[in-house]
Formats: sequence, C-alpha cells, structure tokens
Amino acid sequence: MSTPGTPARVLVLNSGSSSVKYQLLDMAGEERLASGLVERIGERSSRLVHTPLAAGGERRERTERIADHTRALRLLSAELDKDGLGLDSPELAAVGHRVVHGGPRFTGPTLVDDGVLAQIEELVPLAPLHQPANVTGIRTAREMRPDLPQVAVFDTAFHATMPEHAYRYAIDTATADAHLVRRYGFHGTSHAYVSRRAAELLGRAPEDTNVIVLHLGNGASASAVAGGRCVDTSMGLTPLEGLVMGTRSGDIDPAVVFHLARVAGMSVDGIDELLNKRSGLSGLCGDNDMREIRRRIDEGDRAAELAFAIYAHRLRKYIGAYAAVLGRVDAVVFTAGVGENAAEVREAAVAGLEGFGLAVDAARNAVRSDEPRLVSPDGSRVAVAVVPTDEELEIARQTFALATREDGQ
Ligand code: AMP
Repeated sequence: MSTPGTPARVLVLNSGSSSVKYQLLDMAGEERLASGLVERIGERSSRLVHTPLAAGGERRERTERIADHTRALRLLSAELDKDGLGLDSPELAAVGHRVVHGGPRFTGPTLVDDGVLAQIEELVPLAPLHQPANVTGIRTAREMRPDLPQVAVFDTAFHATMPEHAYRYAIDTATADAHLVRRYGFHGTSHAYVSRRAAELLGRAPEDTNVIVLHLGNGASASAVAGGRCVDTSMGLTPLEGLVMGTRSGDIDPAVVFHLARVAGMSVDGIDELLNKRSGLSGLCGDNDMREIRRRIDEGDRAAELAFAIYAHRLRKYIGAYAAVLGRVDAVVFTAGVGENAAEVREAAVAGLEGFGLAVDAARNAVRSDEPRLVSPDGSRVAVAVVPTDEELEIARQTFALATREDGQ
C-alpha cells in the first residue's frame, strides 16, 4: 500500500503502429487522472487528444505533424505536464507498457532492462505489425526517464498457464519448437481482469470459479478459465485463429492457404492480407461494425444476416467446446465493444444452449450499463454476465505491484 508522499501514479502506454493510447492512474485510490490518444503518427496531420480527468479539466486537441513515437511521447508528456502530471513528475511510480507478444519466455509482467528489451525485440517475427511499436514505446520512455521502473505487460501472459495439450499444435514437434510455433493466445490482460471481476460479481472466490470469457471487440477471443487460471483460448500463434472477428477469418482449414496459392496464384502476403484484413464480418458483408450490421439486418439485408449467423454459430461452438474443456461452468461472460453493447449477439450466442444450463433474460439483457451485471434469469445453472473490460487498470495494477515490490517497498 502507498503512504502519503510515496509515488503512486502509473502511466499506461499502449503503443500501436501509428498511434499511442495512454492513461495516467493514481493507484492509491485507483483513480484515473488523465487519458488520451495520439493518432496518425508519421502522417501529415497527426492528432493528439488529451482529457484531464482529475480536476474536471477540458478535453484538449491539437493537430500537427507528429513524425514518430519519440515525438508523440514528448508531446503527451507535455500535455500531462500542463496539469503537473508529466513524465518528469516525482509522483510517477512507473510506466506500464502493453506488449502484444511475450513468446514462450515472458509469462508475467516484467521489469524492463536492456536484456529484456532485446528479448522483446527478438519476438518481432511473431507479431511484426505490433511488436516494433511496443519496443519503440518502451525505448522512448526509458530515454525520457531512465530512473523509472518500466514494466512490460504482455497480451499473451495470462494464457501461459495453458497445459501443453491445449497449447501445442498437432504438427511435427521439432519443426514447431525450432520456430516457436504453438498457441499463445492474446487479449490476456482483458481475460484476466474480466474473469476475476466475474467471480466477484458471482460472490465467489476466483480459485473456485470456472468461467468462459468472450472478449468480442474488433478482434475477438474466447478463453476457458478454471479457478482463475487460463486452460484454453481461441487465438493461437497470432490473433488470427478462433472466433469470427471484424476483419479476421478466425478458424479456417490451413489448406485454404495452399489452395489459394496454387489455384488463385496468390502470394503469401496477399493471403495474409486477405485473412487478416478482408475476412471476418467485413469479408462476409462489407461491414465490420456490429451496429451497422444490426441496422442492415433490420432492413432485411441478406448478407448482413448471414454474417451475423456465421459469427453467432462460431461463438456457440466455442462455448460448447469450452464447457467440455472445463467440465463445470459457473458463468459465460461477455466483454469488449460487441460483448458489452450488442444484446442481440449475447442472445444469439446462447440460443439453443438451454441443455448446457444457459439462457438470457430478455429484459436484463436489454439493459445498457457500464457496470458488471447478470443477464441470465434467476436460478440459472450457468450465469450469463456482462463485465466491461478495463485493460488499462489491469496493466496499471500489475505494473504498480511489480514496481513497488522491486523497489523493496
Ligand atoms: P473494441 O475493439 O472492444 O473497441 O470494439 C469495437 C467494436 O465494438 C466495433 O467495431 C463495433 O462492432 C462494436 N460496438 C461498439 N459499440 C457497439 C454498440 N453500441 N452496439 C454494437 N456493437 C458495438
């Protein structure tokens, strides 16, 4: 616990290829002090949007060319500085970095030193689109505050508890091991936060609770969590496997790749782009936003209806599979943009699964709220819940716990 005068603020940085999202939290009361976003980094008109949250300050916005991540971090620090909250502030205890891939080595939050940073960089081939920006974010923040603990929180870490029979693909072992090919899983920070929060909602200890978490955002993943530990998850070596997503196919016969290469003459990069960017809901009906798809369904659009049906069918298959993996399920929990907001998706995902003890109560499911809530009828064998995710808070908690422990406080 922090005492007055002890630095208790954590800056959470989520560095993407052309953007940096950030939040500053005071961990003494888990209060959010500021949040913001720098986007279109490297383009002619980049944009910084900064919202001071503590003193009810006004949202500030500036548009100018922001050449690179170093410049972006300097600018966001300058914005924070206007409220006395910048990177130089003595109140800052640590910076927590979201890092997409921890590979087989990083199974928990890790204090960054030169060696750790080099190892994170070695994992770039596993996540070529995201990992380089994560590395740049860490490097820049370290340059700006070399004295400050910098903690890497990996999207893969929560899934590191999967047993080998869940994470290993059934391919030649030597080839798989030589190239680090296995299932890692992603969205781990969200699955960790949501599964724990769901147990609280049920009034149960996480160690005694089995849940299926459905993180349905633009990217989407399912996880089976037994007693607080992940035992299976739908994403694999990369975030392409599993559920139908906004623009990604999810599960597909790998032979589709060979077929397209041989018959359609497509290149590896072309097929990569097809499956990651021109598939999923977008590939099926031209829209990746569930709001737009619902609107089109209401107008009788067939392609939107079919896209929704395929999306829901895949969800039901994973719920059934993870019920079998867990043996006993206490709750199915929906989170992220679609999971938190789209009542029709929740209803369709459990439709026909009454035999598994699953149902939603129409009135409860229709309620909109930012609070964790049950949407199943009273007395259901398996609870159905909505738990808004909070990846920044989870990253800040893990960062603060590690930074203060390493400090010996
Ligand atoms: P996320 O990646 O968690 O930010 O989720 C983004 C996705 O959530 C969007 O692409 C939409 O498909 C979906 N979404 C956001 N708000 C709503 C809403 N009110 N109803 C249905 N879907 C929504």
